[in-house]
Amino acid sequence: MGDSVWEELWSRLCHQGTVYSASFAALPSLEAAARRWPAEHRLPALALGASIVAATDVEGRREEFLRGFEETVARLGQLALETIARPLWSREEYVYLLQAALAFQGDPLWGRQLEGLASGEFHGMCPSCGADLYVVVGEKGFFVSADDWVGQPARRVAIEPQLDNVPPVGRWLRDQALSAQQPEVANWLRYVFGTSSCPRCGQPFAVPDAIKSAAWPTPSSAGARAASRPALPNETRLPPAPPATALAIPYRGPWWIKRL
Ligand SMILES: [Zn+2]
Repeated sequence: MGDSVWEELWSRLCHQGTVYSASFAALPSLEAAARRWPAEHRLPALALGASIVAATDVEGRREEFLRGFEETVARLGQLALETIARPLWSREEYVYLLQAALAFQGDPLWGRQLEGLASGEFHGMCPSCGADLYVVVGEKGFFVSADDWVGQPARRVAIEPQLDNVPPVGRWLRDQALSAQQPEVANWLRYVFGTSSCPRCGQPFAVPDAIKSAAWPTPSSAGARAASRPALPNETRLPPAPPATALAIPYRGPWWIKRL
């Protein structure tokens, strides 16, 4: 299948990250396609399937839509694991495959947020004061900023990599990356699971907590942000606060759709 076909499928099944019962009903076809193709052609089917499974914007009840497709999701997960073990992938492709593998394993956070490693930036939120944060991990460096940092003198607080004491999912990811000969991904993961502190309020936090706070703002973090974020001259450049039930960052599909 060509890219235009995938673009059309993506638009129908996971339009701007919103999924419907028909999206879940497509999972067996995606699984059959991925199984039929050699590993080097599986990424689009696995990435789309993972985006459906891990979507947060569900037009209905995810549990109902998933009913009857549990074995399909398990098989997709097995295919994703087989596929990431192949030494075929660019760094970016590899990150999307890792994310897919986690999505099919039912990880609601890294099953959709890990792709920040492909773009080099995660959307974060300070767990203490609710400030929006840019969490930069990759070629541009390893730091947190509360202001748009691209080409601007925004304050940057370094991320300290975590060497030990990494949660199981972090260890699993690093083990996979090392065994797949993706040493850069393995190294960057130490920062994804590292620690930093808020440029606004100074409170320390674990980086995954900041990413989680942005993905699922709690009433307290959203309230803290509304109540205590200082009004800075450049505040209007910050993105507006998302509703608590919506994704903080709109999901636009993986890189191979974005570049079309
Ligand atoms: Zn803060």
